[in-house]
Amino acid sequence: MVPPTTRRNFLRAALGGAAGMALPLSALGRRAALTATPLGDNVLLIGGAGANVVAILSLDGCALVDGGAADHSADLLKLVYERAQTRRIETLFNTHWHWDHTGSNERLSKAGAKIVAHENTKLWLGAEIIVEWENRTYPPRPPQALPNQTFYTSDKMQLGQQSIEYAHVPQAHTDGDMYVFLPSQNILVVGDLLAVDRYPIVDYCTGGWIGGFIDATKALLERSDAQTRIVAGQGPVRARADLENQLTMCNAVKDRVAAMIRRGLSIEEVIAEKPTAEFDGQRGDPQLFLTLVYRGALGHIRELGGVV
Ligand SMILES: [Zn+2]
Repeated sequence: MVPPTTRRNFLRAALGGAAGMALPLSALGRRAALTATPLGDNVLLIGGAGANVVAILSLDGCALVDGGAADHSADLLKLVYERAQTRRIETLFNTHWHWDHTGSNERLSKAGAKIVAHENTKLWLGAEIIVEWENRTYPPRPPQALPNQTFYTSDKMQLGQQSIEYAHVPQAHTDGDMYVFLPSQNILVVGDLLAVDRYPIVDYCTGGWIGGFIDATKALLERSDAQTRIVAGQGPVRARADLENQLTMCNAVKDRVAAMIRRGLSIEEVIAEKPTAEFDGQRGDPQLFLTLVYRGALGHIRELGGVV
């Protein structure tokens, strides 16, 4: 076993620091602190939790849109308790089943939150899920981590003075995506239905596909205006123009990949033809996105006009 002092010296050397420098030893093995940015009246954007979390604070209790990843859940709860003037967590919305958004379900449920999600999200969370493109199998979540108030199309609730509207968009990022809208503050929380500076995920293994993703983007455009502050699953506050850019890119890629599928091209051949070329500078490596678009499209050939 390496004595602690030796290990510390080793770490200093590995980090390239000279003796006496303020090395980030205290940060080693420790998670970065969560950040909280005010979004509006009693609304916080909490970053650093794996996925963005929006906290709506009220003396009657708090609501959270998404809960981040499990290993941040204790820090998240602590931060919300610090910022809110109550320890009541009324509601946790799950925008979809992915673990970086639902990792706090169990802890927040035990803290008293009811978990609101689309019915499909509850079904996924209660099942073993094989996600082929991640080469990963997700075990079913314990009963306490499952949503206990589900809906099918849309609904709304009141939290203190704050009206909260939410609605499902089918077969987009997954088949259980929802957005949450705060009309009085013009804040729209969309989970992973918006990706900026990277390609979106269309998780065909749990019901997502590019056509549905385009329809979801159109639904979000209808719900927003130029002043709307949009919170996506990652990154800072976004704007309606980001949705417009996403729609342009997705429409172009969908049409191009559909045409290539009609020509009988394999996924490797599609990638080689670079159908995303003009978007790669902004969004990076398209290989995963194209694979997801292609595989998802194979399940929707009829909507794509069939294969000649
Ligand atoms: Zn996701």
